Amino acid sequence: MLFPTANIISQDLKDDLFEQKQVRLTVLRLDAIDPVASGNKLFKLHFFLQNAYRQASAGIVTFGGAFSNHLLATAYTCKKAGLKSVGIIRGERPPVLSHTLTACLFYGMELKFISRSEYDKKDQPGFLNDVNADYNNYIVIPEGGYHPLGALGASLISDMIGQDASHICCAVGTGTTLAGLLPKLKEQQQLLGIPVLKNMHDLGQRIEFLTSQPFDPGRMKIINNYHFGGYAKKTPELVNFINLLYKKHGLPTDFVYTGKMMFGIIDYISKDLFPKGSNIVCIHTGGLQGNTSLPTGTLVF
Ligand SMILES: *Cc1c(COP(=O)(O)O)cnc(C)c1O
Repeated sequence: MLFPTANIISQDLKDDLFEQKQVRLTVLRLDAIDPVASGNKLFKLHFFLQNAYRQASAGIVTFGGAFSNHLLATAYTCKKAGLKSVGIIRGERPPVLSHTLTACLFYGMELKFISRSEYDKKDQPGFLNDVNADYNNYIVIPEGGYHPLGALGASLISDMIGQDASHICCAVGTGTTLAGLLPKLKEQQQLLGIPVLKNMHDLGQRIEFLTSQPFDPGRMKIINNYHFGGYAKKTPELVNFINLLYKKHGLPTDFVYTGKMMFGIIDYISKDLFPKGSNIVCIHTGGLQGNTSLPTGTLVF
């Protein structure tokens, strides 16, 4: 790996509820890899960075919004790898930059703001040709690392999960992480994805693109009702849950992804939707930096 994995731990959560329901819940703490860059984003970047080295590229160009974990992970890893990075940002430059974009600048990323309507064209060949012309000898990565190479990188997360897991759970944004985990499932394992966007109904197509294989839902299950109103939306119930999870277990989560996943899985446990004896592994994909967009005092950590 191009980043250190020694810090990754599996945290066993002890709770009366889990004991009563006779399930085990473990959290794979990819957030422990690095305080700045999200765990799964580093995995998704792995093979792009490897290509950048092999091809002696000047750097990486990628896309994102003002709070993007992917942009920050890219800026940070490029800085460490001695590569240049360019972020093409959705929307006009605001008078005050977000914490995320300020951090991207700190890591040397060149920020290029474009209007939302321009940004919508970011995956079209004409737009990409212009980007390639402007940034010769750069590797271009789609928003969120949504690409087969991103999924291949995410598949390496599977190596950190015990053979004895019965259920592997992760939050779903672009679906790239989920698509990476799916082909690596062991015979007895089920993959549970919790979309953080409303109306995410094209996951099958996404997974076909990401894995270059016909989609077989097989042992994958999508749990669609824990998005709390949509991407980056939150309710007081979610915020209370995140604070409680931290107080009880010392487990920090973010309100966009991992908080929603943990809420969904623990709710599922309380509703008896896991068989007794389940050994559930939740992947903490990181993203804690995103909490800086909340008013101070919202969270207890
Ligand atoms: C991006 C992100 C996800 C979603 O990953 P996808 O591969 O886009 O589905 C989950 N958790 C965190 C913390 C993220 O930053």
